[in-house]
Amino acid sequence: MGKKFYVCVDLEGVACTIGRSGQGLAAGTPEYAFACQQATDETSALLGALRRCGADDVIVWDCHGSGYNLDYHALEGAFAGGHLRFALGAGSRKRLPGLDASCDGLFFLGYHACDAKDATLCHVYSSATFAGMRVNGRPVGELQIDAAVAGRLGVPVKLVASDDICVAQARETFPDAEFVVTKQSLAWNSCLSEAPGAVCGALAEAASRAVDRDGTVFTFPSPFELAVSFKRIEYAQGCALHDVDGNPFGWDGAYTRVGQLRQAEDIFTYI
Ligand SMILES: [Zn+2]
Repeated sequence: MGKKFYVCVDLEGVACTIGRSGQGLAAGTPEYAFACQQATDETSALLGALRRCGADDVIVWDCHGSGYNLDYHALEGAFAGGHLRFALGAGSRKRLPGLDASCDGLFFLGYHACDAKDATLCHVYSSATFAGMRVNGRPVGELQIDAAVAGRLGVPVKLVASDDICVAQARETFPDAEFVVTKQSLAWNSCLSEAPGAVCGALAEAASRAVDRDGTVFTFPSPFELAVSFKRIEYAQGCALHDVDGNPFGWDGAYTRVGQLRQAEDIFTYI
C-alpha cells in the first residue's frame, strides 16, 4: 500500500516572492503572477519526489487568498499514475479540507512567518484584519495553527519550506521535520532569494529525506488560551469568538480579545 500525504501551499514563502508595498500578493500584480508560477514549480518538484518515494495518494491544498492560484494541469503531470486531488476555493471555514487520520504526513510550502518585523510578507491570516494571535502567550500563525489541526488527527509535519525567519519559527515547533530555506528575509517586501530552480531541486531532495522521517505531531494543549489582536478597535468589537463556557471572549486592552478554546479548529468557528 502506497503512502498518503497532504501538501499545504501558500504563496508568500516561495522563492523570489516579495509582494508589493501596501498590497501584499494582490491578484493582477506581476509579483502575484510570478508567485503562482513558482508555487506551482515548487509543488511539482515536491510531488515528483513524493511519487518516486512511493506516494500514491496526495491532496494539494491551494490555500492562498481566493484559493485559486496553482496550475492544476502542471501538478497532475508531476504526480502521473497516482491519485492526486486538489482542495481549492474560498468560503469554507474548514482548514485542511479532506485531511483524515490515514494521512502519513503534512508538507508546508510557501507559508510565511508570524510576528517578526523583518520577515517577508509576515502576517497572520489577514494582514488587513489581524495584528497577531497568541496561544498560551506564544505567537502563532497559519503554520502552527494548521499543524495543530492536523496534529489532533495524529498527522505529523514532515517538511516546511519558506524564508529563513519562518523556517526558524518552524524549527522551534516541529523539530523533527525537514526544512528548506527559499530566501533570506530583508524586509516586508524584500529578500535575498535562492534561485527558483535551485529551490525546486533542494525541495525534491529534502522531500525524499522527509518521507522516511517521523516528523513532528504538533498539538495545542486542551483547553488553551487564545488571544486575538485586531488592527482596528471596531474589528475587536465585532469579534464573535466564544470560549469553552459559551461566553464571548474577554478584552485585553482595546484591540485584543482573549478566551479559552478546546481545540485548534474552534478558532475558525467564528473568525
Ligand atoms: Zn498567503
